[in-house]
Amino acid sequence: MDTVSLPMPANAPAPGTCVRVERPEPALAIVVFDPPHRSFPVFDAPLVRDLRTVVDTLRADKSLRGIVFTGRKPDQFLAGADIEGIGSITDPEVFRRACHELHDLFNTIAGLEARTVAAVGGPVPGGALELSLACDRIVATDDRSTRIGLPETQLGIIPGWGGSHRLPLRIGVPAALDAILTGRLFDARKAQKLGIIDRVTKPEYLVRIASDIAMGRMPCPRKTRGLKSVFVDRNPLALALIGRKARKGVDAKTRGKYPAPYEAIQLVLGAPSARHSTWATSEADAVAKLGVTPECKALVSIFFGNEKAKALGKGPDGERPAAVEHAAVVGAGTMGAGIASVLAQKGVRVRLADLSSEALGKALAGHRKDLSVKKSRRRIQAYEFDAAIDRLDAVPGTIGMGLCDFAIEAVAEVLEVKRKVLGALAQDMADDAILATNTSSLSVDAIAQDLPHPERVIGMHFFNPVPKMPLVEIIRGHATSDAVVTRTAALALRLGKTPVICRDVPGFLVNRLLGPYLDEAVRLFVGGVEPLRLDRVMLDFGMPMGPLALLDEVGIDIAGHAATSLHEGYGERMTPSDGLQRFLDDKRLGKKSGLGFYQHKGGKPELATDLDSFQRPSGVSSLGDDELVDRMVLAMFNEACRALGEGVVENPEALDLATVFGMGFAPFHGGLLRYGERRGLSTIVERLQALAKAPDVQGRNPGRFDPAPNLTQAAAGSGSFRSK
Ligand code: NAD
Repeated sequence: MDTVSLPMPANAPAPGTCVRVERPEPALAIVVFDPPHRSFPVFDAPLVRDLRTVVDTLRADKSLRGIVFTGRKPDQFLAGADIEGIGSITDPEVFRRACHELHDLFNTIAGLEARTVAAVGGPVPGGALELSLACDRIVATDDRSTRIGLPETQLGIIPGWGGSHRLPLRIGVPAALDAILTGRLFDARKAQKLGIIDRVTKPEYLVRIASDIAMGRMPCPRKTRGLKSVFVDRNPLALALIGRKARKGVDAKTRGKYPAPYEAIQLVLGAPSARHSTWATSEADAVAKLGVTPECKALVSIFFGNEKAKALGKGPDGERPAAVEHAAVVGAGTMGAGIASVLAQKGVRVRLADLSSEALGKALAGHRKDLSVKKSRRRIQAYEFDAAIDRLDAVPGTIGMGLCDFAIEAVAEVLEVKRKVLGALAQDMADDAILATNTSSLSVDAIAQDLPHPERVIGMHFFNPVPKMPLVEIIRGHATSDAVVTRTAALALRLGKTPVICRDVPGFLVNRLLGPYLDEAVRLFVGGVEPLRLDRVMLDFGMPMGPLALLDEVGIDIAGHAATSLHEGYGERMTPSDGLQRFLDDKRLGKKSGLGFYQHKGGKPELATDLDSFQRPSGVSSLGDDELVDRMVLAMFNEACRALGEGVVENPEALDLATVFGMGFAPFHGGLLRYGERRGLSTIVERLQALAKAPDVQGRNPGRFDPAPNLTQAAAGSGSFRSK
């Protein structure tokens, strides 16, 4: 085949260079994916082109008894489809044709007379697994890097190269549905247990064992599925029940915002009875439909934003900074305990200090508990449990911290206390050891003032709960050096977090945007909007939690403190509502005190019964749902434009990423700015102008809804904040 439908990358190498065939013995062919233009092989147009040629040649070779498909290294098989390609295709026909080409290619592989074995390792997602499923057997390395699965629904599409058909036939409908709907990537042992792969081996034996299986010298029986599983797949009633339950689960999780899981359910349920001629068409149709949806494009853009963030952990020439070996964490409360535990779990030796021995004891117990859960779920081995426990030491004072190469303080949010703690660490530690603060509202520059070598002082703002929240804002002070920023970002990445670099401004980025959003919610509540309705409209919008529920979760005192510091930092447009004062006076602080907007008695929180006594009904209670959403979301959007205009983050992609990972801003919108761009910046400017004139229950917020200058400019120009 000369041409393929997938977009050809600009740096496409010459035909025949991406797939190599080795013949270690006359009847055996080893097909190696080794594209010269990729540091990691990807199923892009040049690779598909060359694989087609190779497969056609091998099909014609009647002397062959075995064929092994493998990567250039045991941990580099193939990274699935070229996601850049998915993002760039706008014509559904291109998706459809590409699916049919890949179906044809994989069907040819499935029909080869020689015995085929996929020898896989490292990431084996999506198209890489679909190719493997077309082979007679799959052998995988038991290496930690091996991750096998079909994550397409996470990108707004479905497995479209045979996966939504071949996986259910291999492992049964219920297991395949779970794998495809969660998009989970399994380690080799789990994949073997599920029946996705046939054998696990050490990386150094991968090709040898695969070759022996391909040549029939080594038995490799396929795990048989029990009769019960086969019966379920053939029973229309059972399938209908499974389908109903799956749809209900997706409804609850996504509120119907993502079309891909529903398409996946339909295809997987139909797999056991589908005829060969129909499944391929249905799969290709579904990909053609889904691939061009805004949801798919938004999810792909987040994927790329995340990939871009990974580059922050490397220097300008791609060099990696020295890995942090020993870290000091001061403050063992909510945040410090979480930070210390995550560091220890990721291989850093940690010394954790606190004035309170009770806090230290609690932190150690929490660390042990977290690891125990992981061990009991077999996510870590016993030796990893022991090692992670050993790596975290609780120490009185700053004993032994002088040897650490990185320190992070998570003590009380008081400037003098933080300065004192970092000052003491600076005296003990080497001049180039990094001093980080987890402050959420103080200025990093103010903290760094008078510390020796301020170039090594930086903000590392984790979110609560630390083990779960994926974002870390890296706050660069005036004096912070590039090398310190890079090394801190590299540490965040090592902890499995996504770093976003921010300037040292009040609230940094995420809290600065949450401020006006939550404040608008409080104003609407005080104005008489039913609290459950407020939370519901934002859940319907796609937020993971309603704003009032979020206030309870964060703590009404913390939110109040943040609102005050934003007001001090930005002036009138951040004037906080006085609606929470009585909550604060009554020490009604949300979840931590058992009562806020909701009653928290364990189990599902219930709405507090006395909330109407906090309301001063006004016209806002008659506003429609869309208007309520606009008041909250556009207050935040306008502030995001201002932050972008001030260069708080480097680019719109970073801002979008921070909103998705730091506040759970609906991923199907692709981030806050992308949401606005898709809706139309001119429409938003008009809406803001109208809101700026609308009456407010607590008087005006001068400036909050006045369109940011860069927004007006972008609306009048390209309609986007990004350079094309
Ligand atoms: P916390 O009150 O739970 O813990 C603070 C701990 O610091 C306490 O255990 C206290 O004993 C200890 N401490 C105070 N002074 C000390 C000193 N001089 N030396 C050693 N230990 C000392 O507070 P937290 O919620 O973990 O917050 C800590 C920091 O993280 C604050 O700067 C806060 O703004 C920031 N932060 C908090 C959150 C959050 O949601 N809680 C989120 C992001 C950032």
